[in-house]
Amino acid sequence: MRVRPAGATGWPPDLEYTLSVNETLPPCPECSSAYTYEMGALLICPECGHEWSLSSADSESGAEDGVIKDSVGNVLADGDTVTVIKTLKVKGSPSGIKAGTKVRNIRLVNGVDGHDIDCKIDGFGAMQLKSSVVRKA
Ligand SMILES: [Zn+2]
Repeated sequence: MRVRPAGATGWPPDLEYTLSVNETLPPCPECSSAYTYEMGALLICPECGHEWSLSSADSESGAEDGVIKDSVGNVLADGDTVTVIKTLKVKGSPSGIKAGTKVRNIRLVNGVDGHDIDCKIDGFGAMQLKSSVVRKA
């Protein structure tokens, strides 16, 4: 437990300001303080003294902070309309989803198996697609 003494810290005011106001850092997992700051590879909470590393969490979550891109690299967003670029087999459907099928109002999800788009397709109903088989319309 390391608590910064209240009052005179000896830190220059501007340094304290930059350490405190960093909205890109996650809150402290121990006490939910928003005033976490970075020191090297560690994140440090000035409220309860908890220190932890972000790098392991980063490598687990994969690339680019959850940005989902279509087959040609366009960034997708909720509500986008996309076109399916190749025929997809669907259980119980003789024809499957044909290439060129438009899918409206997609919703990005963190699905299983790389299925990161939740949508409804006319004639098929709700299903999940992979962003790698669509292209932003
Ligand atoms: Zn804390």
